[in-house]
Amino acid sequence: MAARRLDGLAVAASIRAELQPRATAFAARSGRVPSLAIVLVGDNPASELYVRNKQRAGSEGGLSVAVQRLPASATAREVLVLVDRLNNDDGCDGILVQSPLPAHIAKADAQQVFDAISAAKDVDGFNPYNVGLLTQGRAVLPPCTPSGVIELLVREGIPVGGKHAVVIGRSEIVGKPMALLLVQRDATVTICHSKTKDLAGVSRDADVLVAAIGRPGFVTASFVKPGATVIDVGISAVDDRALAVELLGPGSPRLAAFDKRGSVVVGDVHRSVEQVAGALTPVPGGVGPLTIAMLLKNTLAAAERRLDLRTAG
Ligand code: NAD
Repeated sequence: MAARRLDGLAVAASIRAELQPRATAFAARSGRVPSLAIVLVGDNPASELYVRNKQRAGSEGGLSVAVQRLPASATAREVLVLVDRLNNDDGCDGILVQSPLPAHIAKADAQQVFDAISAAKDVDGFNPYNVGLLTQGRAVLPPCTPSGVIELLVREGIPVGGKHAVVIGRSEIVGKPMALLLVQRDATVTICHSKTKDLAGVSRDADVLVAAIGRPGFVTASFVKPGATVIDVGISAVDDRALAVELLGPGSPRLAAFDKRGSVVVGDVHRSVEQVAGALTPVPGGVGPLTIAMLLKNTLAAAERRLDLRTAG
């Protein structure tokens, strides 16, 4: 039997609908709409698309999303100056520096840029202070993708307490925080990565399997226990037609989209998993829309918190 499809688009729409009255109440108290600033350096087409999606979702949630552009040639110092200005701008509630920064900005300098975002406005939840709160189970601004996954599981009625959750991927932005949020909800969590031995065997023990690898179709049916919930975080653009046919299936209507655009977005989970899993997130339309909804939720939470602190002071 085919797995139940976990509809991230629908869940994200209901989260945005819940944000609207809160955004209206914030505007009534503060005299302005809650506002997210996205720092976009250069003109990476994928980043442009992500930013447009965030702007559209923002207006549906009653928030303003302003893009602060810098040219691809901008130095780390110039990005830091812009972040500093936004940190000190009282009308800005949340700051997101769109990844990746241009390749000429060294990794350590890029890290400095992310670290420079004020913890109170760090809506991605990457600032070391917010990561510390997350590890202590009292995050105010949890990282958007993993918190979106938790929101999806809760709203789809999939319990994780006492279950074995396996997370493939140990990145700072997805894998590690995902594992922390699952363990805080009483799951027994295993983190897997590129050096894990018998990855398929470990994964096959999971009641909830989260794939956050970035390798198209890597997780096949042999990784999945019958009836397990499989969350596909991966997003990869495939521009090889033979690979697209293999991943989507020869009769897939999405091949028409490939032929039109020359590429197609796929996840880490192979279509063979549909016949084994109990529930599965699609790509696109699964975790991606939730990440954006949680970004808006964090922006509103950051705005409300700063206003509450000011009112209390
Ligand atoms: P990353 O490259 O930082 O981390 C990838 C992780 O996968 C690493 O921890 C690595 O150990 C593991 N890995 C790599 N190859 C492996 C292998 N062969 N076997 C087992 N583990 C392996 O990536 P990331 O930033 O965590 O993102 C992961 C994927 O999720 C990417 O496709 C990214 O585009 C996607 N993503 C999606 C969203 C969303 O909103 N849906 C948000 C963030 C990231």
